[in-house]
Amino acid sequence: MKLEGLSIVGASRAKPSGKPIHAINPATGAPLEPAYHWATHEDVATAAKFADKAFVEYGHWGPKKRAALLRRIAELIEANAPSIIERASLETALPPARLQSETGRTCGQLRLFASLIEEGWWLDARIDHADPNRKPLPKPDVRSMLVPLGPVAVFSSSNFPLAFSVAGGDTASALAAGCPVIVKPHQGHLGTSEMVGLVVQQAARECGAPEGVFSLLFGPGRDIGMALVKHPLIKAVGFTGSRAGGRALMDAAAARPEPIPVYAEMGSINPVFLLPGSLAQSGDALASGLHVSVTLGVGQFCTNPGLVFIEQNPASQAFVQKVQALLSATPPGAMLTSDISAAYRAGVESFSKVPGVERITPAAAESHPARNEALATLFATDAKTFLAQPSLMDEIFGPSTLVIRCASRADMLSAAAGLEGQLTATIHGTPEDFAANADLLALLRTKAGRLVCNGFPTGVEVCHAMTHGGPYPATADGRSTSVGTRAIDRFVRPVCFQNFPDTALPDELKESNPLGIWRLTDGVPGGK
Ligand code: NAP
Repeated sequence: MKLEGLSIVGASRAKPSGKPIHAINPATGAPLEPAYHWATHEDVATAAKFADKAFVEYGHWGPKKRAALLRRIAELIEANAPSIIERASLETALPPARLQSETGRTCGQLRLFASLIEEGWWLDARIDHADPNRKPLPKPDVRSMLVPLGPVAVFSSSNFPLAFSVAGGDTASALAAGCPVIVKPHQGHLGTSEMVGLVVQQAARECGAPEGVFSLLFGPGRDIGMALVKHPLIKAVGFTGSRAGGRALMDAAAARPEPIPVYAEMGSINPVFLLPGSLAQSGDALASGLHVSVTLGVGQFCTNPGLVFIEQNPASQAFVQKVQALLSATPPGAMLTSDISAAYRAGVESFSKVPGVERITPAAAESHPARNEALATLFATDAKTFLAQPSLMDEIFGPSTLVIRCASRADMLSAAAGLEGQLTATIHGTPEDFAANADLLALLRTKAGRLVCNGFPTGVEVCHAMTHGGPYPATADGRSTSVGTRAIDRFVRPVCFQNFPDTALPDELKESNPLGIWRLTDGVPGGK
């Protein structure tokens, strides 16, 4: 696949403009060919105009045609996987095996959304038949279903160059819903983004999609990204990244003459509660499990466990010593970008300076800033310090975790009550622990989108029941998820049709149910 370093605007490539920049290999600092040109504001306007025009047709495509597009994208990603993975590994320092499994996840997501839209139940089709004889007033015929919002801007993530990038979960769910997509790729993997963008463009062409159903605009978030969010033809935004970035987009979208929803998945510190019974029974296994979860992918997961709550006792002391030994023996790993590794170092420095916080590891080990390496870091403090220092709730994106030593169960409960919204909360306990901590479990349900029992939060299953969301600031809107089939709900809205003749209704709502989909008819769920 030949890379040109140019944005994709509908069926064409943007013209070169401005001073080009190179993608960088973060493990060596070496520039990678080719040079990349940023899109212009004119490109933003053209892509948005194409997307709006494409929506008129694509928004009415039946489920079979949209499913075929999603499946073709998956086939072409698989066909080009060796070169995509090779480039992604150079740009992100992620090992090929990890990228191989991410390819599987990306294609699996596309196919899952294809099956979902063919099944049709997600449309929430509802029919309430008319009753002309109802007294005192006749009842009208009312039918409703979910319809696509319009063109969606997608900001791809740094840490999933495939599964949450150009053809990742946001794009798959928006295209599945019937929305054209304009992607603002992450600068951490420009070549990978171009490769996948070309694949999506080819799939769209082969499937006969209208021009503009997909565009890809390279450029800085504060310029090209913001121009997209503010463009009047964009109707929703999907984002994965930092709280500062997500919040800037939320504020810009809310300040538009026509405000639009921003579905931002932002930072989370994913608290883990180790209850006394489980620590006494399996402290060593918990230490090993935590170590793997903290250091996986050099800690660059939004579900990385950044906080660990324990009650002070000999078993929890032994647990901390074991975690310390494991983290100290972990070699440094190259991070995704120089900005992310600099942010990690700054975060570690900042926690180290908080009075009452002990930096347990690393003692004196060396890592190489020029290779963007991060060393695993373990901090500890007490519940009182944690509650008194709001900065300890900041995410340190990378292989770091903070142990909160609680003097009692009540201490743990009040520390938990002080937590912000989270993507996940994890609890390890025996049946007796759970019986004694029902109040903690009830509290955590108000704090997180996913509760994990006797496991670790890293590793997000892509399935119908998954929630990868959570109350603000974990996401912009705690009613949404960015992983799993419910992610499609972000890009649709309900419309109802009152007293329409059958011939003028969409197939999904016609009396004979020609698509054979699940519907709620006069309050009764059923397939026909
Ligand atoms: P980021 O800095 O938020 O950047 C993500 C995307 O948003 C990039 O395309 C960036 O564009 C754009 N952007 C950032 N600030 C913006 C602004 N003010 N206006 C418009 N666009 C803006 O995230 P990142 O590069 O991944 O940085 C790493 C940090 O993000 C981590 O430290 C971690 O806190 C967080 N993170 C969270 C998750 C998660 O899943 N929750 C995942 C990855 C990262 P440009 O880079 O082109 O400016």
